[in-house]
Formats: sequence, C-alpha cells, structure tokens
Amino acid sequence: MLCLIQQFGNCSQKNRTVYFDQPKTTMARTQGMDARAKAGVSIRSATKRYGSVVALDDVSLDIAPGEFVSLLGPSGSGKTTLLGILGGFVQPTSGAVWVGERDITYAPPHKRDIGIVFQNYALFPHMSVGENVAFPLRARRQPKAGWARKVSDALAMVELSGYESRGIAQLSGGQRQRVALARAMVFEPQLILMDEPLSALDKQLRETMQIELRRLHRKLEATIVYVTHDQREALTMSDRVAVLRNGRLVQIDTPERLYDRPCDAFVASFIGEATLLNVTRAGDDAVKLGNIVLRTAHPLPPGEKLLLAVQTEKLVIDGGYERPGVNKLVCRVSEVLYQGESLRVFATLADGTPISLRQPGSHDARQRIPATGAEMTVLLDPQDTIVVPA
Ligand code: ADP
Ligand code: MG
Repeated sequence: MLCLIQQFGNCSQKNRTVYFDQPKTTMARTQGMDARAKAGVSIRSATKRYGSVVALDDVSLDIAPGEFVSLLGPSGSGKTTLLGILGGFVQPTSGAVWVGERDITYAPPHKRDIGIVFQNYALFPHMSVGENVAFPLRARRQPKAGWARKVSDALAMVELSGYESRGIAQLSGGQRQRVALARAMVFEPQLILMDEPLSALDKQLRETMQIELRRLHRKLEATIVYVTHDQREALTMSDRVAVLRNGRLVQIDTPERLYDRPCDAFVASFIGEATLLNVTRAGDDAVKLGNIVLRTAHPLPPGEKLLLAVQTEKLVIDGGYERPGVNKLVCRVSEVLYQGESLRVFATLADGTPISLRQPGSHDARQRIPATGAEMTVLLDPQDTIVVPA
C-alpha cells in the first residue's frame, strides 16, 4: 500500500497508465468478500461552468487503486462538483474522467460501478437494515441466491453482524452511517465516493468513525474519494489530501507534507493554526522579520517579499538549555487562553507584531508560561520555519 502511494505520490501525465497494471493479488481482501481489483481514477482537465460561475476550473488528478484521497476546501470551493463529476450526477463542461481502463465521462451513474455515501445517509426508512444493504444488488439485478451472503459480509465489515432484520428507526446515528457504508460497498464497487459522511454526527462519534473508516479502508483496500471541509478529518484519514480553492486544485500531498510544507499562503492558513507574517529575503536560507533574522532548512520561494507561516504548536517556550542554530524570538505575553487540553498564548514582538503559540495542558508545560505582561523567548526550529510566496 505504502509503496503504491509513494510511487504515485506525484503522478504525472507520463506515468499515469502504470498503475492500471498493478497485480491483482495485492487487492485480495479479507472476511469473505471476493478478491477484486480496485480501479485507479484519472480526472483530466475537468471544468464545470454554471453560466458565469466556474465551479471547477481545469482540475487534473490521478488516484491510485486502493488509495484514500480527500477533497478538502472551504464551502463553495468545488468539492461536491468534483465528486458529482466522478459519480455521474454532474456533467463536466469539458475534460474527462477515467476509472480503471474505462472513460466514464458520459456514463450514467448506475453504469459506473461506484458506491456512494452521502452526508444524510439516504437510507430507506421503511426497509430493514438487510433490505437497505441488499438494495444495490437488486438494482443491479444480481442473482438473488447470493444476496444473503453478500449482505451479511458487508454488515460484518461495518461490525453490524446480525442486524439484517432491524428497522432503520431503531438504529443510532453512527449505526445508520455504518449501514450506509455497508450499502455502498455490498456490490464491491471499483470506487467509493463519500460526501461529508460524518458531518451529521457529534464530535466524539465522528472521531471514532474516522478511525473505523480508516481501518475499514485498509481491510477493503478500496479506492475512496472523500469530501470534507474538516482539515483534521482529512489529515486523519487520507493517504493524500487535495486542497481546492475557488474551483482550482491548489495542492495535493500526503497529510504530513501538506501540513509541514504548504505550497502557498492559502494552504498554510487553511491547514492548522498558522500566523502569517510579512518577511523579506535575507540570503539563500534566511528571512528577516523586522530586524530578526530567521534561518530556514527549506528552499525559499522566489521573490523578495515573502510570508513566514508559523503554526502555533511549532513555537516552543525557551527552556534555557542550549540549542545551536535554532531561531529565537523575544516577545511579551499579552494573553493566555485556557482551552482544556492545551492553552493558547498570545504575545507581541518588540515592534508590536502579534504571534501566538500553543502549550500543552500538562502541569509542567503550564509552569513554563510567563505571567501576562512578562517577557518570553520562543524558539522556532529551522525545520519548522516555513516560508511561502507573499
Ligand atoms: P463545495 O462542495 O466545495 O461547497 P460546490 O461544488 O457545491 O462547492 O460548489 C462550487 C461552486 O459552484 C459554488 O460557487 C456553487 O455556488 C456553484 N454551484 C454548484 N452547483 C451549482 C448549480 N447547480 N448551479 C449554479 N451554481 C452551482
Ligand atoms: Mg459540498
């Protein structure tokens, strides 16, 4: 799995066809569901216009078989439009979509071999759990003799074994979402699409389901495209995250690279909790923040005027022991906000520039926060010194 992702981490036009030749043995699955190849997806220059509104603007994206890719972006950025183009509910104005070796750009939704999970579950309330899960098999006219086993395998996958005869009204929100998942995968589709499937659940259940979905994905080895506006959810679950803004694909990367190496100010401010500060170039590996020179371990983008993106948890209160090469900022504490598991500390540099950092809620870490109004030295490792174009 990992090697697949590394191999396709930077899919280019040239090597696109490579992953369609992956050996089917790697796709073998567990728990009685039949082994079957999962397809890669290739979105090629997809554009969608509604009159003068460009909902999706020339988006190209290759997804490896078995990969979990999240589409992340603010409301209106084109996530649902892109998912609709994959699912066949939205016809692109131009561009193409391939699943495996098939051009499905103009195929109707029911001929696409794609399972879909919506935010509102869209279960049939008058049918039992088993009838709901069997629905795609009926719609696809699969032989009735195989239904019972397929339904019980799918329910076992989502840990609802034996729930076949229950009514939908008897289930909790989390159980309903699992039934929706079982229904999306019962016919063993090549691709599963999910549009904010957990957003109706409360925080705790949502986090539990995120971990469950991640496990389920490993078990199924299904190709999944997952829409969310929740960056933490995207980082938790995905092999790669595609960030959309105003219909454009801004960056696609692994969660770690996206978080640690944002390509521009939008990604830097959308992911995590960053302060963006105006800086100027000071040589090949340093920038100037006012009079303070900060070294970075990463190549600088071109230009003289740049932005320093500082995530709150990357700033560390100076513990007094020697750390050669680390950047130091002297500031004054202006406010400390208690937030339970952590505390947010607001401070200002000598020239009034505001910065903020996060300190864990442990007794020891809290002891290190100076009183409001006191001076404080914070450290920023050159590895954590991220500079993006202004
Ligand atoms: P997201 O899912 O990221 O919130 P959408 O894909 O739903 O964004 O929408 C992207 C843009 O396209 C938005 O500006 C939205 O208003 C517009 N849009 C989406 N669907 C339609 C439609 N059927 N008619 C007109 N504009 C639409
Ligand atoms: Mg949407």
